[in-house]
Amino acid sequence: MGWFKRAATSVKAPEVAISISLNKPAFVCGEPVTGTLHIVSSEAFDAKDVCVELQAIETVQPLATVQQAPQESETQKEVFTTELHKIRVSLCGPLKITRGYRREFPFSVQIPHSAPPTYRGRNAKNTWILRGAISVAGRRDAEGKTEVLVTPSVFCWICLKPIAQDEQFTLYDNGICHANCLRKMKGK
Ligand SMILES: [Zn+2]
Repeated sequence: MGWFKRAATSVKAPEVAISISLNKPAFVCGEPVTGTLHIVSSEAFDAKDVCVELQAIETVQPLATVQQAPQESETQKEVFTTELHKIRVSLCGPLKITRGYRREFPFSVQIPHSAPPTYRGRNAKNTWILRGAISVAGRRDAEGKTEVLVTPSVFCWICLKPIAQDEQFTLYDNGICHANCLRKMKGK
């Protein structure tokens, strides 16, 4: 193999198909995103690490107004991207991957309670992306990505805390609250 071909191979990501399946179609702020990372390799290499990363990316595109001068409206069209959150979870340390290697890694990544949910506005949006990656020394990561739908937490109107998925809730006075909180309130 000539030096050029070798150099090209060394920069390229390893030939691994990474796919992600999520356990649910949507997740609530404060709960973990759970699913499975599927890996199928058609190349033999030494992996440094296998991980998942959950990112919230906010994109803002200021609305251009008609009155503006052409030069100004040009800058108005610029899209601003901000990474609001990034949570990385390592699933496996150094690993020898052979040709035909297949493995499934179950994962769980916590979404912070204070995190902004998925949002699609006219000029702003917030997108949650789950990235599965295999890192290799001196080469690009092999990666697979999928969008995660994150919905807002529901808050109890009595204690003002979020109502977790596994907690009992009830409707009272046109509001949603913990069954326990209502019981305590009525008991007094
Ligand atoms: Zn409560």
